[in-house]
Amino acid sequence: MSTDADVVIVGAGAAGIAAARRLAASGLSAMVLEATARVGGRAWTCDVAGLHLDLGCGWLHSADRNPWTRIAEAAGFTIDRRTPAWGRQYLDLGFSQAEQAAATQAFTNWRRRMVETPPASDCAADALEPDGEWNHYLQAMSGFLMGAGLERISVADYFAYDSASTGYNLAGASWLRLAYRSQPASPHRLAPLDPGRVD
Ligand SMILES: Cc1cc2nc3c(=O)[nH]c(=O)nc-3n(C[C@H](O)[C@H](O)[C@H](O)COP(=O)(O)OP(=O)(O)OC[C@H]3O[C@@H](n4cnc5c(N)ncnc54)[C@H](O)[C@@H]3O)c2cc1C
Repeated sequence: MSTDADVVIVGAGAAGIAAARRLAASGLSAMVLEATARVGGRAWTCDVAGLHLDLGCGWLHSADRNPWTRIAEAAGFTIDRRTPAWGRQYLDLGFSQAEQAAATQAFTNWRRRMVETPPASDCAADALEPDGEWNHYLQAMSGFLMGAGLERISVADYFAYDSASTGYNLAGASWLRLAYRSQPASPHRLAPLDPGRVD
């Protein structure tokens, strides 16, 4: 494999692929170095019983201005344009309507405290109600939504993300396949590499 390239990109996740596409369009040569045996990074699709199951990303957030919406459609991938069923509990299993309403109210109250009386620490956990009945639920939601507990979430960052979102979220599918199809053609290369060899 040739090792000559104008630009070397480390990592063949969404960011690396986007950089490679941009460079390909500009006429510069690029080489993508990927430590694992596949492209996609946290976009990862598995086949289960003949169906495609996304273990990583699945949603197009701010889909109306998310470049991946256009890329996915141009590549022939299906975008589900129905309103997401977020907030609807399947058959109310183990979580009654009354409990769902109380949990949602606790979430609303926590957000309101961050707006009206933001903690000086900028730590989202400090906006929890002391010994609040739904604090464990809010912590779980924080993990699902942001990948970390509230003690690791900045109030400023939370609202910066919130205000950057258009609130238009759509479900896509098979993101690993999309990643493969989105790679620019040669001279861009995928070079499985020991991560320890890249400083
Ligand atoms: C379970 C889950 C669900 C998610 N759901 C969504 C969602 O619905 N919508 C959404 O928008 N986002 C979602 N995300 C986040 C989204 O997947 C990531 O933000 C996005 O894929 C990150 O792309 P990236 O290119 O920045 O990083 P990554 O995908 O992490 O790619 C980095 C790549 O670099 C490689 N690498 C790292 N170090 C080296 C090295 N030294 N040498 C060579 N290669 C290296 C890695 O192997 C990897 O392939 C989700 C993430 C997870 C884990």
